Amino acid sequence: MFKNKTILCISAHMDDIEFGCAGLIKTLENDSVIYVLALSKDRKDSKGSIQEVRDLDEQYKSLEFLNVPKSNLFISENIPGQLFPEYRQEILEEMYRVKSLINPDIVITTSENDIHQDHRTVNKCAQKAFSRTTRLSYEIVNATDGFLPNIFFEITEEALKAKVMAIDSYKTQQDSSITSGDYFSEEIIKSLAVSRGARVGVKYAEAFECENILIGL
Ligand SMILES: [Zn+2]
Repeated sequence: MFKNKTILCISAHMDDIEFGCAGLIKTLENDSVIYVLALSKDRKDSKGSIQEVRDLDEQYKSLEFLNVPKSNLFISENIPGQLFPEYRQEILEEMYRVKSLINPDIVITTSENDIHQDHRTVNKCAQKAFSRTTRLSYEIVNATDGFLPNIFFEITEEALKAKVMAIDSYKTQQDSSITSGDYFSEEIIKSLAVSRGARVGVKYAEAFECENILIGL
């Protein structure tokens, strides 16, 4: 189902896809073409003041660990983190723009069952922009409270190691003044992979909610 496909992984904030599907990305490195759409690169408050500008080098370094070329990364310019619900149309237009360029077979995005307003908005927009595309959503350990996986993807040990390294690329996000930081720990990342693997009888896995599936001829 996942081999010989064009797969688009969408994040609201750089590092989302690493938590959600880095193992899948690395496991498929020689089998499918992976693209990444990062929808924001800064964070604003309700008055429009910039609270944080993300370090792009962290995203680039992460993608190196996952063997995704820089040329397969799309970064949106004018969608501020934390304010996604107000920018639904801009997000949709970004999704349509990327769709017209790469026409993905599979889209993997944040979950509807997520406590973060940006993550939920991305999911809603993807439902519309990719309504005719196979679509999965991923979990983020500290944010997907109501997550009910029904697709389990076995990942290799090498891919799990790459996932840990990719997540660790985001040094700024491990600062306790920016995030709670604890979910960046190798122990938590590996534990989740083991737990999801145990659910389906393999050593390591990532779990997804399947939202839409297209079985073509
Ligand atoms: Zn996020």
